[in-house]
Amino acid sequence: MAAAVLVAPLTLAAGSAAADDAADDAALPVTTTSEVVGTSVRGLPMTVVHRTTEGATRRVLVIGSIHGDERAGMRVVRALRDRVDLPDQLDLWLARTVNPDGTAADRRTNDHGVDLNRNFPYNWHTSSRDETWSGPRPLSEPESVALRDLVRRLDPWLVITFHQPLFGVGVNDKGYRTVKALAAGMRLPLEDFVCTGICYGTFTQWVNNRTDGLAVTVEFGHRVRDWRIRAAARTVVDVGAGG
Ligand SMILES: [Zn+2]
Repeated sequence: MAAAVLVAPLTLAAGSAAADDAADDAALPVTTTSEVVGTSVRGLPMTVVHRTTEGATRRVLVIGSIHGDERAGMRVVRALRDRVDLPDQLDLWLARTVNPDGTAADRRTNDHGVDLNRNFPYNWHTSSRDETWSGPRPLSEPESVALRDLVRRLDPWLVITFHQPLFGVGVNDKGYRTVKALAAGMRLPLEDFVCTGICYGTFTQWVNNRTDGLAVTVEFGHRVRDWRIRAAARTVVDVGAGG
């Protein structure tokens, strides 16, 4: 609805070469590359886009969707991919979806019927075979393994995963100031999503308890207006570069 700034689609650069020629300019150029980091049950690629400037150290991973029927976060990823300027410090990794089969089918689970956000090896336990099935064992799914490997390789200081529709930013045991800044910027309430019984094997808990990084769950509502998508993208950049 509001006036949007139109930007030309960015072409994906093949590498980070040729940075030397641009050294005279004040603003460092942002390079954008893409990489396949895994393959889904059905053989679809799990693609991540990497946007950075030379020497950037504030590494942030943004996951647009892990539940394939929760799609609003993919709009935030698109906004971050298309944004022209990024702070020099920001080393930004964008996964539109880590559940390409679920996304293609507009379905929560992967193609085995597993809830990937219950398939991680922290506080995992068996569950009934419904839409939050945790799978036959932790990391039973190729998508979960690929995401685990990606986080281990990148070692991001901040991981943000988008969901719907609980409307709030999840409070963690760590990183309270960062969580608060994300909630304020995205104009969402801080929520202590009660985890007793339902939060077994979640990706966020695994990151927070098994890595040095901070993982934050952001839940939009059912319908998400464009202004909120823009606010979320801006907040990822601001908080991710600072912190
Ligand atoms: Zn979700």
